[in-house]
Amino acid sequence: MIAVLKPETTKEQQNHLISWLKSHNIDVHVSKGENYTVLGLIGDTSSIDIGLLESLEMVDSVKRVSEPYKQVNRKFHPEDTVVHIGNGLKIGGGNFIMIAGPCSVESREQVTEIAKSVSASGADVLRGGAFKPRTSPYDFQGLKADGIELLLEAKKETGMPIISEIMNVNDLPLFRDVDIFQIGARNMQNFDLLKEVGKTDKPVLIKRGLANTLKELLMSAEYVMSEGNHNVILCERGIRTFETATRNTLDLSAVPMLHEMTHLPVVIDPSHATGISRLVEPMALAAAAAGADGIMVEVHNDPIHALCDGAQSLTPGQFSGMAAKIRKIREVVRQ
Ligand code: PEP
Ligand code: MN
Repeated sequence: MIAVLKPETTKEQQNHLISWLKSHNIDVHVSKGENYTVLGLIGDTSSIDIGLLESLEMVDSVKRVSEPYKQVNRKFHPEDTVVHIGNGLKIGGGNFIMIAGPCSVESREQVTEIAKSVSASGADVLRGGAFKPRTSPYDFQGLKADGIELLLEAKKETGMPIISEIMNVNDLPLFRDVDIFQIGARNMQNFDLLKEVGKTDKPVLIKRGLANTLKELLMSAEYVMSEGNHNVILCERGIRTFETATRNTLDLSAVPMLHEMTHLPVVIDPSHATGISRLVEPMALAAAAAGADGIMVEVHNDPIHALCDGAQSLTPGQFSGMAAKIRKIREVVRQ
């Protein structure tokens, strides 16, 4: 349920109403807009008399939120959420970021060289997998703790915030200085993992599962938010369809649809969505044009010899050309 308060409501009246709601075991999420304040009521609201709430002088309107996702819902929080990543970097609410880097961290030279080049071309965040969720147990599983160390070295050298995938709650201490937790597509519904990252205040980027609906993606974000962490970023990375020409099918309509359903920022990953490096640029440009809040792409300095996902990795030169075009598209989108 949400209650929209009239602009002239005083802080005292608002607090009085919140304490009354809390005495009915309702948790209240306050979203302050330019004119109106929206109270999101979480919990069993069946004991609340809508008519009584509506009749209060300070209340403009009351609506039941029928969707199962509450805190993630745009109705609860009409304004875009801006997630602060660190060093003044923001995503959402008109702030666009580019995340780039290798699929997996392979060596110190590899990750620092890529980090320096993508940073020079305008990437905001360095990506790199240390723990890799591979389909085959015989494939490269990542450098694990050593991979995180190498990412931290690249962060120190370039000043770029870093994002890396966490697969197991036991690895949380290793991620202390990682700026964004990445929840991979295969872990989108690892509810224990979602709850644990929800207990931190670090930004969490959740990738949509290979066969999950947008509603399910939002429910995963709700898990994180319900534990108190509101710094959630959503990522569409392609879904599995009957099409086999591309690795996955990029659901680009997820961008405007999610923007209607939720206030959280939406990132597109055209690398995993297509699996083909020459398709990455056109899809990244389309994502920027569709109003995405960011893109995440794989970049490798030697794609042919990459230990993972070389076929979908851009070279640093290709990334640089694409980044320049994205900046132009962003100018048009902002108008
Ligand atoms: C990745 O980004 O490294 C990755 C494994 O992606 P996804 O979880 O989308 O497959
Ligand atoms: Mn990859």
